[in-house]
Amino acid sequence: LRREKTDLLIIGAGPAGSVAAGLLRRQGNEVLMLEKQQFPRFSIGESLLPQSMEYLEAAGMLRAVVEAGFQYKNGAAFARAGRHTIFDFRDKFSSGWGTTYQVQRATFDEILAREAERMGATLRFRHEVLALDLEGERALVRVRDPEGGEYEVEAGFVLDASGFARVLPRLLDLETPSGFPVRGAIFTHVRDNIPADGGFDRNKILISVHPDRQDVWYWTIPFSNGTCSLGVVAEAAYLESQAAGDDNTRLKAMVAQEPGLARLLDKAEWTMPARRLVGYSANVKSLWGRHYALLGNAGEFLDPVFSSGVTIAFKSAALAADCLRRRFAGENVNWDTEYERPLRLGVSTFRRFVDSWYAGGFQNIIFHPRQNPDIRRMICAILAGYAWDTNNPYVAEGRRLAVLEELCSA
Ligand code: FAD
Repeated sequence: LRREKTDLLIIGAGPAGSVAAGLLRRQGNEVLMLEKQQFPRFSIGESLLPQSMEYLEAAGMLRAVVEAGFQYKNGAAFARAGRHTIFDFRDKFSSGWGTTYQVQRATFDEILAREAERMGATLRFRHEVLALDLEGERALVRVRDPEGGEYEVEAGFVLDASGFARVLPRLLDLETPSGFPVRGAIFTHVRDNIPADGGFDRNKILISVHPDRQDVWYWTIPFSNGTCSLGVVAEAAYLESQAAGDDNTRLKAMVAQEPGLARLLDKAEWTMPARRLVGYSANVKSLWGRHYALLGNAGEFLDPVFSSGVTIAFKSAALAADCLRRRFAGENVNWDTEYERPLRLGVSTFRRFVDSWYAGGFQNIIFHPRQNPDIRRMICAILAGYAWDTNNPYVAEGRRLAVLEELCSA
């Protein structure tokens, strides 16, 4: 087999892979990115959080994103049983960006990948990583090219950013259950035809709760071109039990069950077949090992409700790039204390909020008739993605949320 050499090999050119590539190029490392698909390609995960802007900026990719003309986003709106509550991310406890974008991922991911390439990374579409050997002095990775031929790459270090494909967790038997029930999502893009004067705020994601089931919810993510991403999340068995027929029929039937959403979308044109993803929550025994680290969804994925996926993917890329900078400078890096634990800190913050969302406690907090503005700003910071800011008591103290749940349950 033909063999190539590189300092760093990145599996996957999604947000985690491309931002890692940008950061590593800025550090002067040699980077090879191998991406199984041809971009542009559809992906879900379209509503960003303001915290993610910091990493786009650090990777040198912010300007390209700004200039693409995506939908501006400044907050999140929640609706339950006719009640609304709104979080404006600019009014939050943590410092940093308070606005961001809602992005069509086909375009967004291609922009980031091309930016990484512009910065000097080698990017190959339709090259699939098949296997790897970590026993030697360097990692040895086997790849299939678009013609079906195979070759090997010898890499100083491998970053697995393969998303839900979870290439290394599968090859290395790292997978472990996520602890969440098996949930799924049905989603599509619609031409929404929401009237401009109807009071709907396109600058916010709308999360609507099912009138009878607090663990069933919908997202409406407006884009800048008059379309919206629309999806429903529920336990897999519940999704299956809704309306016979294809996923479009199911999604329409479920939208009809939430009167506020049904009204909002009553003029929508359903222009593409709905898609379904089930059992996306995942975890691993370890986020790193000899010659490798797992980024973004290839490591842990929680749940879509707080739109935290891309932010976590970027954070993992930033932490890993920093560890690699020091490794290549000849320093000793402890990946446990300098990568895994710092990353998992914010992931556990989100996990507490996700658990609380599905159990109903978080919903009682945000819809409570009396709200303390300081506490609301702390919660807003987490909704804006600042889940690693240990100055925020809701990050630093695990019990805080449970106490607030109790106060708001009455
Ligand atoms: P990905 O974006 O999945 O990229 C991985 C890439 O690796 C892909 O391009 C793939 O083709 C490539 N690849 C796979 N296998 C191989 C291989 N063998 N060789 C080479 N390349 C390979 N996140 C948000 O931030 N906001 C949201 O609103 C949001 N909504 C979501 C809704 C749902 C229903 C779900 C399930 C998730 C949502 N997410 C959201 C999460 C978000 O989709 C992911 O967290 C994010 O895409 C992770 O990025 P990534 O770079 O880790 O992986």
